[in-house]
Parts: sequence; structure tokens; C-alpha cells
Amino acid sequence: MPKNPAGAAMLGAALLILTLHRVAAQQSQGPSASPRNATPANMPLATLQDMFVRFPLPPGQDAYANIDGKHLQQYVVEQVAISRRYRDAGHPKFWGRIIGTSADAEDVEWMLAKFKAAGLSDVRSQPYDLVPQWFPQSWSVSVTGNGKTIPLESAQPDYGAVGTPAEGLDLDAVYVGLGSEADFAGRDVNGKAVVLFSMLGAPNENAVRRADAKGAAAILDVNMLPGNARYQAYPSGTKAPAFTVGHDDGVAARDLIAAMPAGQPARVTLKLSVQRVPNLKTAQIWGTLPGATDETIYIFAHRDGWFDASGDNAGGVASMLGLAEHYARIPQAQRKRTMIFVALDGHHNSGEGSAVGNKWLVDNRQKLFAKTALAINVEHPSTVQTQSRPRYYNANEIVWGNTYMPQQWYAGGTSRPELEQIATAAFKLFGATMDLYPSPTPPASDMSSFFRFLPGIDTSEFHQYFHTDLETPQTVPWTGLEASTRAYAKIIDEVNKLPLSTFQRAEEPAPTAR
Ligand SMILES: [Zn+2]
Repeated sequence: MPKNPAGAAMLGAALLILTLHRVAAQQSQGPSASPRNATPANMPLATLQDMFVRFPLPPGQDAYANIDGKHLQQYVVEQVAISRRYRDAGHPKFWGRIIGTSADAEDVEWMLAKFKAAGLSDVRSQPYDLVPQWFPQSWSVSVTGNGKTIPLESAQPDYGAVGTPAEGLDLDAVYVGLGSEADFAGRDVNGKAVVLFSMLGAPNENAVRRADAKGAAAILDVNMLPGNARYQAYPSGTKAPAFTVGHDDGVAARDLIAAMPAGQPARVTLKLSVQRVPNLKTAQIWGTLPGATDETIYIFAHRDGWFDASGDNAGGVASMLGLAEHYARIPQAQRKRTMIFVALDGHHNSGEGSAVGNKWLVDNRQKLFAKTALAINVEHPSTVQTQSRPRYYNANEIVWGNTYMPQQWYAGGTSRPELEQIATAAFKLFGATMDLYPSPTPPASDMSSFFRFLPGIDTSEFHQYFHTDLETPQTVPWTGLEASTRAYAKIIDEVNKLPLSTFQRAEEPAPTAR
């Protein structure tokens, strides 16, 4: 305590101001305010960082101490800034580090600079021409009835959706619940706007396709996760334009449909203007750390993503940079194998003519991978652990844990037991939490195209913020980036103790279509 009265008075005034601030904050949040109602997705990063559980560096593993999760998270923030610049330059609803855009071009420059700064050699960009790319130009969706119109601000067209006529569509609305066959029973959806609900973790009813097959003229697929996120879905494969809709908007639409008098359905009006933009380009970025031999280790990470794309895949790119920086500090003579880093263009532009960099690698596999001992594809290596509407919380929200989600993983498959053992031990050693058992094939990722001919490691997570406009840098815990990246480095070092023959296998046949 200050000894003089003036000091005591100042302290008292300061405490009063703090108290007033707190009261004001509580009042502005309304009666339901509680600490867990804060929005951690937008909390100051430094505050949030301090709240997370960090797995301690295990004894004897000092060599990995320089892989620092807070440093890596900064690379997530930098990539997110590229996305947001694109958003703020006149693309408020369909934005991100989208292939072929100015954000892609800016990201290429960023990536080249980071590879050079990390100390890689032969840093270069390999450009690709793109087939015409799908870009929604503008859209609007609303529900009308009983003299009320509710605009569905969170509506987002599924990737590749067909546009409406310029004057738009004005359709009867039909609600079909979860969209199973039973939900459609006795309902005529032909030529109408079908509203259905779905959620991560619920069984996949293929409801959007079912609605299309039954003649729907438009489909609104409401995401039941708490909140009102925009969610960018992969192509629906439907003839009718399909949109995802946030939960709050979807409930409002459903309740309006329910409130209509019998025989007088609510109406859905929608407009969607799309273009296929020709002559765009993308690139994948290469960098090398020469080793003591011409045997190779590859590290891949895709650069693209929707919205902030923090988890998918700024986190993966950050982890790849962490590995580059870590190994650049080691003298060439002590790096047993040459390390090749490839920042892939990406694959969110699904379908024919997408993932061109990935395809080029597959087409050139004999030449590129003849002496490859290991390939790590870094995708979504850190995701905040969340629960949706936890039991007894009685709250319509996604609640955050102070740690990261376990990942789906693949480590060479059943024909490479040594690699699986090395990976299992490394994950455990550094607290990189994984599903208890590996996936028989890699989680959906760029590794899906490589694993039949490469000794591949792939760990990945696809949780609640995936492909949404809430996937901020906060959703990518620094602790998870650190744990995953240290584990990857450990795997590389253990693989380097063993000969090529331990890991290389004849190319496995592609699974036959059933
Ligand atoms: Zn991804």
C-alpha cells in the first residue's frame, strides 16, 4: 500500500474506475452476461493464449524447444490478414485465400518471402493456369409470410451452385425436418423451396440430394450448430441451387413457416448470380533444405481456404514453416536427407480442374519420389476443443475448452508398422492428441492422392468452425501448433535413423469402385 495519503487516494480512484468499468460492461451485455457468454473467437489473442494448457517439453527433448507455438500462431494471424484484405476490398460474402484471386497472389508472395526468410534454398513459384473458376457475384435469400420478411443473412451458396434467373425465384416453402425419407412422406416438394436441418455429428441423411431428386426448386440446409455462422459447403451435386443457412436464421425461417395459416405457405425469395471466371492463375511454392544425401523428405501444406481459414489451413502452413525454421538451424551435414517443402495451391475449388498442384505431383511421382523416405501433409494440425450445447448448461452456444481437439491420423498404413510406431510414440511424447486408433486411409486431405505411393503422415481435424466465417486465429491454439509440429519433427528424426527400405513400398492399387 502507498504510505502517503495522496497515493492512497489515487489507488482508491483507480479501483473505483475499474469497478465502474466492470459494471458498465455487465450492463451493456444484458442480463444473460456471464464469463462463458464472451466470444472467445474474437478475444484478444494474448489473453486467450494465457488460458490454454501447454504440454511441457519432455526431459531430454531440448532439441525441440525452439519450435514455439506462439511464434507459429503469428503466421496464422498473417495469413488471416491476407483473407481479410480481400474481404474488405469488395468481397464481403465469398472471401478467403481463394484460388485464383488477388488473395491467392498475395499469399504466393507471402509464402515466397517466408520460405526465403526461413533459409530455404531454390525457393520458387510453379504457376498453373486454371479452368474457369466459380465465383458467386451476389445473392440474397429471405422468407416471407404473415406480412413479415426475414432476410437470411447467413445464407451461403454451396460451392459451384447454379445461379437463379436474373429476376430471382419466388417459391412456396416446405419444411422437411432432418430430410429423411420419413420426413418427406406425404409432402409435395416439387418446384418448391425445401428447408431442412442438418448438423455435424448427426447421421448423414443425404437430405439435400433427396430434396433435389424429389424436384425441389431451391434447397436451404440449416446448420444446427449454435450461432449463425456462414458455412461454405463443398458442391451439393444438385440441379437446384442449394444454400447453407446459419442456425439462428434457420430457426426464424422454420418458425415463420410454422406460424402460417393452413393452406397458405410461407414464401422463399432468392437470387443468386454466379460467374465462371476464365484465365485465372495459381501457383505452388517450393523450397529446399539440402541434406547429406539425395534421399528426400517432403512436407506439404495447402495454402488456400475460405474466410479466415485459420485452422484450414493457415495452421498447417504455419506448422510447415516451423519445421523449415527448425531444420534450417541444423548444419547440412547433420540433416541426413534433403527436405523439400511444397506449399500447395489447394483444393477448395472442387471438381474438374481443381487441385492442379496436387495432380502435377501425382503425375510426376516416379521422378519426384524415387528416394523419398517420408512425406508429411500438414493440414489442420490444431483446433480448439469445443462442445456444442453441453448437457445441463442450458445454453445455445459452442463452449470452448482450454486445449485442442484430438486429430484423425494416418501413418503409413498397415504395411509400414515401423512408421506407425514412430508416429504413435512421437504424438504421445509431445502431447499431440490423436484418435486412439489410426484411420485406415488418410483423413480427407491432399495426402489422399499420395498415400498409395508415398510413406505418408497425415493428421487432421475438421470440427465445428471448419469452413465457417468464425474460424478466427483464436480457434487455432498455439499449444496445439506447438505439440503437432514438435511431433512431426520427432517423426522426421526417427525416420532418418532408418534406411529407405523400411518405408518404401510398391505403389498400392487404387481401390476399385463398388
Ligand atoms: Zn484443408
